[in-house]
Amino acid sequence: MPASLASVFARHLQMKCPQKSYAVVEARKVLGGTWDLFRYPGIRSDSNMHVYGYTFCPWIDDKSIAPGELILRYLKDVASKFSISKFIQYNKRVSRAEWSSETARWTVTIEDTGGGKPSTLTCNWLQMCTGYFFL
Ligand SMILES: Cc1cc2nc3c(=O)[nH]c(=O)nc-3n(C[C@H](O)[C@H](O)[C@H](O)COP(=O)(O)OP(=O)(O)OC[C@H]3O[C@@H](n4cnc5c(N)ncnc54)[C@H](O)[C@@H]3O)c2cc1C
Repeated sequence: MPASLASVFARHLQMKCPQKSYAVVEARKVLGGTWDLFRYPGIRSDSNMHVYGYTFCPWIDDKSIAPGELILRYLKDVASKFSISKFIQYNKRVSRAEWSSETARWTVTIEDTGGGKPSTLTCNWLQMCTGYFFL
C-alpha cells in the first residue's frame, strides 16, 4: 500500500490520462496526511519502504523500516518532483458530494478551513483518499 493515496491517483492520471484535468483538495494546510499529523518519538513505518513506497518513485534510502520524518520528506519530494504540488488546493475540506445522472457529474461542496468562503467543483470522477485518522 502506498504512503499517500492522493499522490498515487494524481501520478497515474498524469501518466495514463494526460488529457484529463484534476484537482486534489486537502483539508489541512500542509501535505503529508498521516505522516505530517503524527510526530511522536519513534514513529516509523510498519512495512518495508521498498514495498510501501511508490512504484513510480522507488524508495532508495538505506533504512527500509523508515522513521516518519523520512517518509514525510519522501512524500514532499514526490509531490514536487512530479509536479503534483501545484494541483493541491490546501485548506479545502470536502463536506458534500452530489451525483447528477442528468449531467453525469459530481458537484462537490468544499469548505475553506482557512476561513474563506465555501466553493464548489464539478467532476466526472471523484476519488476519496481521506485516510482513516481524520474527521
Ligand atoms: C505510525 C504509522 C505507521 C504506519 N505504517 C504503515 C505501513 O507500514 N504500511 C501501511 O500500509 N500503512 C501504514 N500506516 C497507515 C497509513 O495511514 C497509510 O498507509 C497511509 O499513509 C494512508 O495514506 P492516505 O493518503 O490514504 O491517507 P492519509 O495519510 O490519512 O491522508 C488523508 C488526507 O485526506 C485529508 N482529508 C480527510 N478528509 C478530508 C475531506 N473531507 N476533505 C479534504 N481532505 C480530507 C486529510 O487531511 C489527510 O491529509 C501507518 C500509520 C501510522 C500512523
